[in-house]
Amino acid sequence: MRSITTLDLQYAHRFYGFKGEAQYLHGHTGVLTIEVEDTVEPGVNMVFPCNEIQKTAWDVLKNFDHALILREDDPLLPAVLDVYEKQGIRNGAPQNTMVGAAFKTELATAYPECRLVVTKETLTVEGMIKIVYDLLKDKLNIAKITFTSGVNAASAEFTTKNKIDRCPLCGIALDENGVCPKCGYRKQK
Ligand SMILES: [Zn+2]
Ligand SMILES: [Zn+2]
Repeated sequence: MRSITTLDLQYAHRFYGFKGEAQYLHGHTGVLTIEVEDTVEPGVNMVFPCNEIQKTAWDVLKNFDHALILREDDPLLPAVLDVYEKQGIRNGAPQNTMVGAAFKTELATAYPECRLVVTKETLTVEGMIKIVYDLLKDKLNIAKITFTSGVNAASAEFTTKNKIDRCPLCGIALDENGVCPKCGYRKQK
């Protein structure tokens, strides 16, 4: 069965080099749906608590929220960084409170201190799904990701590992020692 969670991401981007309106900088509220698959953990009668999926996802994905997302070869990137630098906000500002854990993957690098994500590929809805899966695949048993943004939508299905040991009291994944990081429950050997 699947536990499904949804989160909103508001971001600005453009399709650099694209012959269409999207070549201009513009913004979206994107809706990301993450489906986590496993057996139902009998203790809590759920696959995985949705608020925990959301928390795990948001820890990294908040870097995309209220952020500017530019492709690495977009000439706007050095121009924007130059302005931020001159304004003294390149390395952070007291008002920037949505700072997630910085990440760097093959597909994207987050600069949370200045609310910027630099991507290898154009950030289409398909591109976003690839980035999100890559960031979360080791943390969640993801079966499907759907991303919608304006009139665009895409989804992708993934093979899951399944049968992750979860806490029968709060439903979250047990650590490598069979202990629940939230409530301290210990799996009987
Ligand atoms: Zn767009
Ligand atoms: Zn627990």
